[in-house]
Amino acid sequence: MLSSATKLVRKLPSACRLLRSPLSSSASGGSGGGGGGGGLSFALTAEQQELQGRVAEFIQRVVVPFESDARRGSHGIEESLRDELIALARAEGGLLSSHVAPEWGGLGHDHRTKAVVFEEAGYSLLGPHALNINAPDEGNAHMLQLIGTAAQQERYLRPLGEGAVRSCFCMTEPSPGAGSDPSALRTTARRLPGGRFAISGTKWLITGANGAAFAIVMAQTVGLDGATAEGATMFICPMDTPGIEVTRTLGTLDGSFAGGHCEVQLEGLELGAEDVLGEVGQGFKYAQVRLAPARLTHCFRWLGAARRAHDTALAYACERESFGSRLIDHQGVGFQLADNEMDMHVARLAMWHAAWSLDQGSRGGRESSVAKVLCSEAIYRVVDRSMQVLGGRGLTSDTEVERIFRDVRAFRVYDGTSEVHRMSLARRMSRANVPVAACDNRTAAPSS
Ligand SMILES: Cc1cc2nc3c(=O)[nH]c(=O)nc-3n(C[C@H](O)[C@H](O)[C@H](O)COP(=O)(O)OP(=O)(O)OC[C@H]3O[C@@H](n4cnc5c(N)ncnc54)[C@H](O)[C@@H]3O)c2cc1C
Repeated sequence: MLSSATKLVRKLPSACRLLRSPLSSSASGGSGGGGGGGGLSFALTAEQQELQGRVAEFIQRVVVPFESDARRGSHGIEESLRDELIALARAEGGLLSSHVAPEWGGLGHDHRTKAVVFEEAGYSLLGPHALNINAPDEGNAHMLQLIGTAAQQERYLRPLGEGAVRSCFCMTEPSPGAGSDPSALRTTARRLPGGRFAISGTKWLITGANGAAFAIVMAQTVGLDGATAEGATMFICPMDTPGIEVTRTLGTLDGSFAGGHCEVQLEGLELGAEDVLGEVGQGFKYAQVRLAPARLTHCFRWLGAARRAHDTALAYACERESFGSRLIDHQGVGFQLADNEMDMHVARLAMWHAAWSLDQGSRGGRESSVAKVLCSEAIYRVVDRSMQVLGGRGLTSDTEVERIFRDVRAFRVYDGTSEVHRMSLARRMSRANVPVAACDNRTAAPSS
């Protein structure tokens, strides 16, 4: 007897079923990982398949009906909707916080299992909220797990992992401050006698700042003499601390993140040594720790959204007729859908490879850069074509495609723009001056 989840797996579209085909002879195994320690396998473990079906079924049955909820605003979903969705996922059991270790309220999945769960959740823009796997909380939780002290983990990671609170990550600044170039960081953390720090600066484009319980703030550390720069430091700051204030919610094209994208003013903010995340002066190093997996999880989620757009366009193309034929039978439409399938396939291969690299202990800098550019551009093309295939309907809010289109555009900008990733890949090549091997096994070694 098939479970309803298994039945749904069978019904899923071809782009998704591909992952269930064992394309490699490598043995699969490990705790949830699709492939053992050495080789990369495309076979999902039984556990991953079950999870994939369960998440897909939950999204369709429980989450999709909320897409018409009035609490989806232009600056993201309202807190009450997020709380309701999380409560529903919690009640199902075994769905919340895939990326967080069990001791902090999550499921402790490896990167390959996250690839499966996040893609299914991304099929609805509300799915990542429901499963508590959205940005920026997911990246912040990752960093807190790796470098937070026991006290910081208890205070901040536990409620984050349990879905009780949201957080934000404050790095970007208005011009002339840090953006693509982090070395332009203007926010300062000036040392005070007694070990405290005075933080001052302006951050902007800060996702989720409205309603966040705490922020992780990047600042340039300045010594007691007021002149010595000690490198960038990360601080954890409760949002109700005097001296940190959300001063503006920006109007943006996208609108699916809770708490919008905000300007945050830091003035008269004092934090103690216990609020430093990791070590003083190591902020840029930690940003890399956060960014490689965080940019990959964006890829996973947005691939799910792209698949949704494609499926919507495919259904329309198979039903709607023009000039005596179904749309899909016109080459101009069929080829667009074929290009969608190819783009999604290549995107998935790139992200699976990067996820595998991270699971092997690599820092995944190069792999996640490659995957980020490839996926964000491919996913954008898929959603754009899907909208075109839907004709005028694609531009209306009668389907989710219009909202996905607005949301997905920003992915080519945040977590490193396409240009900056290309620049860093080119620099890497220029430093090493080594031709890329036909089969590059260096991914198992730590990369920067
Ligand atoms: C929706 C959204 C959410 C965001 N959320 C957050 C968040 O939560 N926290 C946070 O800290 N930041 C966040 N950001 C900010 C994001 O990380 C930055 O926008 C991004 O890093 C680019 O920086 P910038 O906007 O200052 O662009 P700029 O640095 O001003 O770049 C402008 C343009 O110049 C190009 N460029 C720059 N340098 C080069 C180069 N060397 N070669 C070629 N081209 C170059 C860029 O690619 C870009 O096209 C978010 C942004 C958006 C759009």
